[in-house]
Amino acid sequence: MTEFSEIIAESENTHTLTKAEIISILKDDSINEFLFKTADNVRQKYVGNEIHLRGLIEFSNICRCNCFYCGLRKDNLSVSRYRMSFEEVLRLANVAKNLDYKTVVLQSGEDAFFSADKMCEIIEAIKKLDLAVTLSLGEKTFEEYKLYKDAGADRYLLRIETTDKDLYESLHPNMSFENRVKCLENLKEVGFETGTGCLVGLPNQSIESLADDILFFKNIDADMVGLGPFIPCPQTPLQDSKIGNLYLALKVMAITRILLPDINIPATTAMETIQSNGRILALQSGANVVMPNVTGDECKQKYIIYPGKSGEHISADDYRKFLSEKFSSIGRTISVDFGFRMKK
Ligand code: SAM
Ligand code: SF4
Repeated sequence: MTEFSEIIAESENTHTLTKAEIISILKDDSINEFLFKTADNVRQKYVGNEIHLRGLIEFSNICRCNCFYCGLRKDNLSVSRYRMSFEEVLRLANVAKNLDYKTVVLQSGEDAFFSADKMCEIIEAIKKLDLAVTLSLGEKTFEEYKLYKDAGADRYLLRIETTDKDLYESLHPNMSFENRVKCLENLKEVGFETGTGCLVGLPNQSIESLADDILFFKNIDADMVGLGPFIPCPQTPLQDSKIGNLYLALKVMAITRILLPDINIPATTAMETIQSNGRILALQSGANVVMPNVTGDECKQKYIIYPGKSGEHISADDYRKFLSEKFSSIGRTISVDFGFRMKK
């Protein structure tokens, strides 16, 4: 055992690591297998062998923001924009329900058309289907978050993207790091199960700042952490940047599992996109959630945040069967409950 594998072995029980230890682990690739195995043990002990499926509905690709990495950014004029009707969102929520998913995730660009009233109408209608509702709509006011919560929404995902303030502000024109953090605090105060996460492999991102990202997740006691490698997208300012490294993303995820043992962690689509077994590797390195896409084909093809999104060409029905077989091949089952965080 190297010095670092002893540190990792100890963290399996203490669930703590210093920033210096995290940096050393992230820099040393000789301990990757041991790190992944340790995170897998922690996952099994705290959240078990069940995988929670959350049906993803990408209901609008219209966005007022200009995030440098994202294909949906406002200035990308090559995107064919859409927003779904209330009826279409409800139809897709029913598709998710019929596939036995217990949660729908409503995700969109920051689209002002969907006022708080319109969102609450959608949330209330979906809650009548006895589904948990997760929102991923970007930065809103405290009052808007409260209205969504009062309408019955259960969870909210808002990645911090990076805790390096200078890097954050260089990639997000007209947005502030302080407001991002404030939004996350507001989401917690309103009572949401709050999810955050980061991109791994952004240009000019340091290993030190990834260690800060992990400690940030721990510090705010995130209920969910979703992270993935950065994938350069054509027609964006970062189109010629280097693609993120899957193994570095898996390491950030594995350390997050060790430090936050009872939270929900998705095996993200970006991981599967970058390598065809990325999702399975993630599920064996700390992840316990998968978010299959139930957005219909036509819209799915227009919701291009990065190229080559995995699962794009398969129907929602076939995809569920495919996932079920994959999961049983690694000894995992699909959960039949809502999959809220059980604090331990
Ligand atoms: N607009 C909402 C927001 O930004 O929170 C939700 C939709 S946004 C497309 C969801 C996530 O996609 C972002 O948090 C970001 O981390 C991720 N994303 C965007 N562009 C990406 C890229 N090029 N590679 C990997 N992930 C990306
Ligand atoms: Fe809009 Fe979200 Fe993409 Fe930023 S990451 S441009 S907020 S959809």
